[in-house]
Amino acid sequence: MKLEACAWTDPGPVRDNNEDAYHLDEDNGLFIVADGMGGHAAGEVASRIAVETLRELLTGDDLDPDETRLDRQVGDPGDVLRERLRYAMNQASARIRKESLDHAMYAGMGTTVAVLLIEGGQAHVAHVGDSRVYLIRDGTLARLTRDHTVVQQEIDAGRLTPELARTVPHRNYLTQSVGYHGPVEPDTITRPIEPGDIFILCSDGVTDPLDDRQIAAYASDSDATDLAERLVREALAGGGEDNITAVVVRVSDG
Ligand code: CA
Repeated sequence: MKLEACAWTDPGPVRDNNEDAYHLDEDNGLFIVADGMGGHAAGEVASRIAVETLRELLTGDDLDPDETRLDRQVGDPGDVLRERLRYAMNQASARIRKESLDHAMYAGMGTTVAVLLIEGGQAHVAHVGDSRVYLIRDGTLARLTRDHTVVQQEIDAGRLTPELARTVPHRNYLTQSVGYHGPVEPDTITRPIEPGDIFILCSDGVTDPLDDRQIAAYASDSDATDLAERLVREALAGGGEDNITAVVVRVSDG
């Protein structure tokens, strides 16, 4: 199957820098969005290290000995890939943490990571933080990630409704992030892909101003090649003040 991807990012109307980072690699089926946080330029550094580390470890030819050991231990190809994703996330976290300990100006930096790896007819998704991955299939939008946020925990516990959660001031507090928290436990899932599938990876700059219903509506009346730009523009129009990033991946025959 063929993959076509596009991305759009905007610093938003308030910030003069963009701490979001993204990566598109149609040949290797690797797509990433990372939303960095930290003072000064630290957020940009964290998200860039995360993207670079994942790119290196998930597409590089030089496999780490630890990784090779993992490949031998786990038999199922899906398990192997999910284990590689977890390993790459933790390597990224260790590198960011080291940078933040070595340089005072980077103290406390971290980043979300949402990654989609398409291989062998399967989509493998891993994430840490509140950047999301959606799948649109047959016109229906499904959220493939569950935010690592305090409010998501409160929703899960029945103490907060999803509607109310969108309005509370602490809605962006993360329960884990790559770098800041050291070792991370990404959630991973695998789904078979089908022609016509559209994946969206995005930072909370998109999902803060836009709810899932709006994202589904924009997806249904946009060409997939324009959807990333459309989502960013609608998020800006919806009052988004954060950095805003969307990556859209379309699966087709051929
Ligand atoms: Ca953000």
